[in-house]
Amino acid sequence: MADYDPFRVAQIQLDRAAELLDVEPAMHEFLRWPMRELSMRLPMRMDDGSVQVFQGFRVQFNDARGPTKGGIRFHPAETLDTVRALAMWMTWKCAVMNLPLGGAKGGVICDPKAMSERELEALCRAYIREVASVIGPDRDVAAPDVYTTPQMMAWMMDEYATISGQNHFGVITGKPLSVGGSQGRADATARGGWYAVREAAQELGIDLNGATMAVQGYGNAGSYAAILGQQLFGCKVIALSDTGGAIINEDGLEPQAVLSHKRETGSVADFPEADAIASDKLLELDVDVLWPAALENAISKDGAERIRARIVAEAANGPTSPEADEVLYRNGVHVIPDVLCNAGGVTVSYFEMVQNACWEQWSVDYVHERLDAKMTEAYHDVLQLAKQENVDIRTAAHMVAIQRVAQAVTARGWI
Ligand code: NAD
Repeated sequence: MADYDPFRVAQIQLDRAAELLDVEPAMHEFLRWPMRELSMRLPMRMDDGSVQVFQGFRVQFNDARGPTKGGIRFHPAETLDTVRALAMWMTWKCAVMNLPLGGAKGGVICDPKAMSERELEALCRAYIREVASVIGPDRDVAAPDVYTTPQMMAWMMDEYATISGQNHFGVITGKPLSVGGSQGRADATARGGWYAVREAAQELGIDLNGATMAVQGYGNAGSYAAILGQQLFGCKVIALSDTGGAIINEDGLEPQAVLSHKRETGSVADFPEADAIASDKLLELDVDVLWPAALENAISKDGAERIRARIVAEAANGPTSPEADEVLYRNGVHVIPDVLCNAGGVTVSYFEMVQNACWEQWSVDYVHERLDAKMTEAYHDVLQLAKQENVDIRTAAHMVAIQRVAQAVTARGWI
């Protein structure tokens, strides 16, 4: 694909699965597009006295199965099509996990790294004022995503509470524990991914104790993928990267030490006990588990030919192009696709919604136990269909999800 457009990728993936399922034309057309989308302009006074106008989006892709759910990204390269794609993937993700939720996504085009704390708070509050009339605990529930944090979720929840005059904690998940957050949310995406990798490794006969791994993108999802890989299974983390560069140590890196180095310097680059490698070479390393945990469009068709990992665990959303998918499937690489692999995040977000609705607080052990059960069940639902239909795991995951969403659309009498 010459010009990578994540929404186009998401539609191609949908088309593949819908064709195999023989979805009727009206349903297929309905599922190709968001049900609702909002684009907004957010004028804001900056610290230097100037006024900047930011553009924001909220896309509610499909709410047949329940309130829509999806994070908010603050990123300079945000586009409406990225938000649409992510909203579509959220719809399939919630359905694959059999959560009673639909899919949505939000975003603001901005560079949070160049903004002060006061500016970020003002932008969070301005965004919520614009979307307040279309979100809510039973309607559309937001969450953190790339470059948005629990503190930002707290400001957003507070703005919504101020507007509605009530403490609707459930309007946003990923909040700090002190204002209705859930235990176990911070590492949920990576932990859920690992539960799926554990099942895959068992099937493929890979002993995770001592297995090698590499992670592209050392942010929230990626750093926990490395830390938990070592802690839970005894994996050897040999390479890590972020926008500042990539590092390697064949004898094993200490993920916590790399995280401390990144906190001090802003990047994993120049970590003393490692060598530098070119960022794209990280994806080509001969490892047992490769974690793309940065952004979309990480693995192209050509790149896929050079991948030697046995398992690719997609912590990131949309890292693999449809052409690359075909190559990886042909080469026998076991890809655990984004809608399944990173669904631990939305699953614990759903647990947070349930706790908020009941004014409860669950223990971390209970959260882990329930997350493990959900991930394990979803992984086997998808794998069973992949084998039965002789298709790649992503197509099978989309098939499971589309079937469930289409059933709800039909039951509600929409089509
Ligand atoms: P984050 O902002 O915490 O981390 C992103 C990291 O990727 C940063 O360290 C950044 O430097 C790095 N990065 C960006 N471009 C890169 C490149 N070309 N090469 C190497 N590194 C690069 O974001 P996050 O929350 O960890 O999200 C990462 C991915 O996981 C996104 O696709 C997101 O949608 C997905 N995801 C996250 C969660 C979650 O709970 N955090 C849940 C589901 C999916």
